[in-house]
Amino acid sequence: MVRIALERVRDLFGLAEREALVGHPELSDRYVHLARQVGARYNVRLLPEQRELYCRGCSAYWIEGRTVRTRLRSGRRVRTCLRCGRERRTRIRAPRTLASRATEGAPPGTMREQGAEVALFDTAEESESPEEESEQE
Ligand SMILES: [Zn+2]
Repeated sequence: MVRIALERVRDLFGLAEREALVGHPELSDRYVHLARQVGARYNVRLLPEQRELYCRGCSAYWIEGRTVRTRLRSGRRVRTCLRCGRERRTRIRAPRTLASRATEGAPPGTMREQGAEVALFDTAEESESPEEESEQE
């Protein structure tokens, strides 16, 4: 069942990409939504490259410049969903060790909050389980 679910997810992302290219972004969003449902139902994780393709808030299929804006900010890639405004931050460099992170200059004020938020987000992302994903449905 898992193998079939993975194939189904892959097909749905293929369809999402195709519809995005021919100018039917609402269908792409629908396919993303279905792919996530399949993943949640059969307890399979979407591939890391698939998880890059959509918004976790509203399941919008991300098309650069149309449904997502990508900016580089202090060594991180910040992708903002243009549908719901949700941000997704990913490190660009290889994950740093705790030691090297501690020796990095302490950012003042808002930067520190931003850093804390990023850290929380990273943790949440790594600990994301299929159960959590089903709760979002
Ligand atoms: Zn969104």
